[in-house]
Amino acid sequence: SRIKEVQFVKSSARAKDCPRDDRPEFAVLGRSNVGKSSLINSLVRKKEIALTSKKPGKTQLINHFLVNKSWYLVDLPGYGFAKAPEASKTDWSSFTKGYFLNRSTLVAVLLLIDASVPPQKIDLDCANWLGRNNIPITFVFTKCDKMKVAKGKRPDENIRDFQELIRQHYKQHPPWIMTSSVTGLGRDELLLHMSQLRNY
Ligand code: GDP
Repeated sequence: SRIKEVQFVKSSARAKDCPRDDRPEFAVLGRSNVGKSSLINSLVRKKEIALTSKKPGKTQLINHFLVNKSWYLVDLPGYGFAKAPEASKTDWSSFTKGYFLNRSTLVAVLLLIDASVPPQKIDLDCANWLGRNNIPITFVFTKCDKMKVAKGKRPDENIRDFQELIRQHYKQHPPWIMTSSVTGLGRDELLLHMSQLRNY
């Protein structure tokens, strides 16, 4: 499951512009600021892979990275920008939904969930939408290194609360992995998990 090589392939503005290719792919998705860029950089250990289109209101793009010439890691636009105008939120849904519903090579969505905050409705809505559409997901909890804050809960407590809510919608709980881009927690586990899903 080692990453030897990563190539940026293309940015697509529409689902139908994505590379025509039958190699398997994993899409990385999450709320803005969830730690998506940090996680991708930590996975590929290549800081130069600058991730584009992070700013709200900017053109949202689907970025394809080819790993070891054999599978794709796909960076999807973040959702839930606090300051995004209503219009750009709507854009996100039709655009990203089009990708999910039409991408036959999609093995699984890595749905990033910030473990340093309590469960967020927008994340639960996203997980439930993917579940209803039979799109396989793996929950990747980010920022698991964060220490308890004054009045908040610890990451493991937030994760437990989140999973409790997910259980109400999923008969079978999707796989989940705890990660930290600061300590490297979960990196190898996530890479191994993806290699197992690819060889299924
Ligand atoms: P993105 O908007 O989802 O791409 O999020 P970024 O990767 O830019 O991270 C957002 C913020 O969270 C930044 O300030 C990061 O330094 C911080 N962050 C990201 N991952 C971690 C993590 O694993 N642990 C901690 N403590 N902070 C993180």
